Amino acid sequence: MLMMDDIIRDGHPTLRKTAVDVAMPPSEEDRKILESLLEYVKNSQNPEVSSQYGLRPGIGLAAPQINVSKRMIAIHLHDDKGNLYSYALYNPKIVSHSVEKAYLVSGEGCLSVDDDIPGYVGRFARITVKGITLEGEEVKLRLKGLPAICFQHEIDHLNGIMFYDHINKQDPFKPIEGAIAIER
Ligand code: ZN
Repeated sequence: MLMMDDIIRDGHPTLRKTAVDVAMPPSEEDRKILESLLEYVKNSQNPEVSSQYGLRPGIGLAAPQINVSKRMIAIHLHDDKGNLYSYALYNPKIVSHSVEKAYLVSGEGCLSVDDDIPGYVGRFARITVKGITLEGEEVKLRLKGLPAICFQHEIDHLNGIMFYDHINKQDPFKPIEGAIAIER
């Protein structure tokens, strides 16, 4: 299982690389990597397991964060209605998005960034994502709210983008025009 030491931190060059597509069908090695990403986010949200192994809780993890520059992400979270979004995807892609923006009022965090970096991170309010599941099925997901933000954060990692790149440097809490404020 993945531990905090397996997660590379801000400043590591892999976090700034564009990750490559995973060849389909996935190799055994790639499948194990994707499974381990999902296992980490699940474990990190289990109070007993996370305290036993010192895991920082997270709702998403991308392969580049464990120094594997391939397009794989895992997400495990509940939205504001209590619906579970638990996905491990190969080659996820945003195929369409709203014009409307959204942001988390509390800002974003990242398992690869140890310090809090305050500020509003502008995201698309709604996105449609396509990807291939661990079972090899193509899925098309229509997302809004926290799940939409989390998917955009993780897909950014596949393109070498960090969440704080989206924060206004001069005025981190500058209102984002017309954006939906999401509490979590
Ligand atoms: Zn991150």
